Amino acid sequence: MSNTTNHIRNFCIIAHIDHGKSTLADCFLELTQTVSQRDMKEQILDQMDLEREKGITIKLQPVRMKYKLGDQEYELNLIDTPGHVDFNYEVSRSLAAVEGAILLVDAVQGIQAQTLSNLYLALEQDLTIIPVINKIDLPNADVEGTQQEIMNLLSIKKEDILLVSAKTGQGVEQILKEVIKQVPPPQGEINKPFKALIFDSHFDEYKGVMAYIRVVDGQIKSEDKILMMASQQEAEVLETGIFNPKLKKVTELSVGEIGYLATGLKISQHCRVGDTVVNPKIKVEALPGYKEVKPMVFAGIYLSEGSNFNKLRESLEKLQLNDAALTFEPDYSQALGHGFSCGFLGLLHLEIIQERLKREYNLKVIITTPSVAYHVKLKNGQQLLVHRPQEMPEPTKVESVQEPWMKVDIITPEKYLGPIMELVTNKNGEYISTEYLDHQVKTTYQRRVILHYDLPLNSLIRDFYDKLKSVSSGYASLNYEFNNYRSTEIIKLDILISEEKMPALSALIYKDSSFQEARQIVQSLKNNIPRQMFEIKIQAVINSDDKGGGKIIASERIAPMRKDVTAKLYGGDVTRKRKLLAKQKKGKQKMRQMGRVNIPPEAYLAMFKR
Ligand code: GDP
Ligand code: MG
Repeated sequence: MSNTTNHIRNFCIIAHIDHGKSTLADCFLELTQTVSQRDMKEQILDQMDLEREKGITIKLQPVRMKYKLGDQEYELNLIDTPGHVDFNYEVSRSLAAVEGAILLVDAVQGIQAQTLSNLYLALEQDLTIIPVINKIDLPNADVEGTQQEIMNLLSIKKEDILLVSAKTGQGVEQILKEVIKQVPPPQGEINKPFKALIFDSHFDEYKGVMAYIRVVDGQIKSEDKILMMASQQEAEVLETGIFNPKLKKVTELSVGEIGYLATGLKISQHCRVGDTVVNPKIKVEALPGYKEVKPMVFAGIYLSEGSNFNKLRESLEKLQLNDAALTFEPDYSQALGHGFSCGFLGLLHLEIIQERLKREYNLKVIITTPSVAYHVKLKNGQQLLVHRPQEMPEPTKVESVQEPWMKVDIITPEKYLGPIMELVTNKNGEYISTEYLDHQVKTTYQRRVILHYDLPLNSLIRDFYDKLKSVSSGYASLNYEFNNYRSTEIIKLDILISEEKMPALSALIYKDSSFQEARQIVQSLKNNIPRQMFEIKIQAVINSDDKGGGKIIASERIAPMRKDVTAKLYGGDVTRKRKLLAKQKKGKQKMRQMGRVNIPPEAYLAMFKR
């Protein structure tokens, strides 16, 4: 190890949502006078409005602070990790950029699912963990109970856990001292060829993709040539800089440091999180752990009335510049018109995109019910990735179908164990094991457990979280990650309206529950399609083929209505009444000839919300 990095400490804060990560980071900024009092806006590290409202951190915002201990001035680089499970991979890459992690636990809430999953990720990276209990100023803080949980989890002594209040500032300076004392300085060689890890990026209109990097070896300055190893993209560095927390140009970035490179690249996918940046002329080995994150959840985004298709496309393109995980392709739906079929990391990711379209681009959109992607193997050996019903081949051609399963951890007070287990079982979950967070049961302290399950992603994206919160009175917390693909029996259900197949209403459903689902769909359509002048027949069909064959498994009828067009006319004028009735009769004939039912988008959406 060289002496050049002895004054550097790179660390992050891992915490469950709302446990005080942003507040603590603000406290650090104030304490180290990184941001002047005048500029000190509450929670300066959470830059997006949306994040602040939802209390989550989506994009990491790193910061460099100076802190003097003894005679030595230290450079402390703090990375704020995203706090949601959809972004687990991003968390793992930012953890790979540092040597230490502050494990921040709310003294009222205790350890929660997200605390645990991030802790495991940090331990995988061999980080030094500094456990901290926050919010000790609150009257209902259970410091002792939380200490017990952490001691049990990390096998450490009570004295090793710091007690702080990020709100009042009590104990916060001690954390920085412990970071300097316990977290090792970054390793690496200044004389080796340049190598750095990309742990995040954002897009700048003038400077292109700004890669956030941790320099592993060597150094880098503007005008140097660089190569992104996974994407094989070359570029020239336009600028190097640090996070202060605003971007601040510096002449070079050196071994162990955290900063940014302006790459001039116009496509975010050329500079992905987890990739290794090197000097293109010198062959070096890529850093471990890179993977291209794949969308797990798919949904259609369609225009609601009055919106503009080109504007939607441009907005999605812009969003993608800051979000390489978002995918989209044009799509057309009979019921909803022009739109895009989009891929997301998870439900929250979807929600964020929807909100950003609304807030930043003033676009109101209709989002179809999310679905997962199935691996379909055909009898001819071909492999397909299917997430839209129309992509599912005829049953006779399909050899097998697989669906994604997740590993799920639920943390809950013991008293909700029964209803939670029942919920997960109903959702086809497979029980793995139970752990107790605290072995020492105290009368004042509610014993809490961790439940480990395997669960189909399909179940997870269908109101699982809401149900979990409701059966546990809000106390259970949930974490999940992709586990594997497993065999499943999925079939396509087609809907005929007055004998005409409506591709927009097709759905992919479990074969096991096909009768039940078909009934619900047909019923929901009946309730949401307005009556017309003629009878409407609604049928649900499985095993349908191109020749109009198939098996009807559910059907409903909507009785015709005789619209009382004369209601508004009172009394006498019989001739006008007659004329109107005659007109109505003609209209009826016309519609029947057309044989088409106008299905409002609401009916389409209601069917999926069943
Ligand atoms: P994050 O989601 O982990 O970033 O959490 P925040 O920093 O946004 O904090 C969540 C809430 O807890 C906010 O309302 C904070 O004001 C509050 N909070 C954070 N730290 C403390 C603390 O030490 N004491 C008290 N009483 N409230 C705190
Ligand atoms: Mg926050």
